[in-house]
Amino acid sequence: MGTNQVRPPDTLGDAIRRGFGLRCPLCGVGKLFSGLVRMESRCHCCGFRYERGPGYFLGSTYINYGLTTLLTTWTYIVCRFVLGIEQRWLIPALVGFCLVFPILFFRYARSLWLSLDCYFDREGAMEGLAEEGQEGVKKTF
Ligand SMILES: [Zn+2]
Repeated sequence: MGTNQVRPPDTLGDAIRRGFGLRCPLCGVGKLFSGLVRMESRCHCCGFRYERGPGYFLGSTYINYGLTTLLTTWTYIVCRFVLGIEQRWLIPALVGFCLVFPILFFRYARSLWLSLDCYFDREGAMEGLAEEGQEGVKKTF
């Protein structure tokens, strides 16, 4: 893995793989999180700054919300109309899912948001690398 080139994901598959692996989108090696929810500010391996602007990760809520909605709707349709499960069982279970899933998926939504952004905006992603060393350990929050 140490011979990996530092550049944005070449394919959508690479972007999704790095996203689900919670790894740096540019080198695929550095970890995004140092704890359960604590995010690193930069990649330890290549120096890429993860938070590309103030409120940058707000966009990850779209991924989280979208996937939660999609899974809930799909599960409801299959369970209610294909399997014939009664609503009195289905609704509480799905409400529970809607509360728990976004929390469990939080890290992956952030990671996917970052890796997909680097895939679609390759030049912008490399700017996050170029500024390495200029700002030191400046925090944006
Ligand atoms: Zn990296």
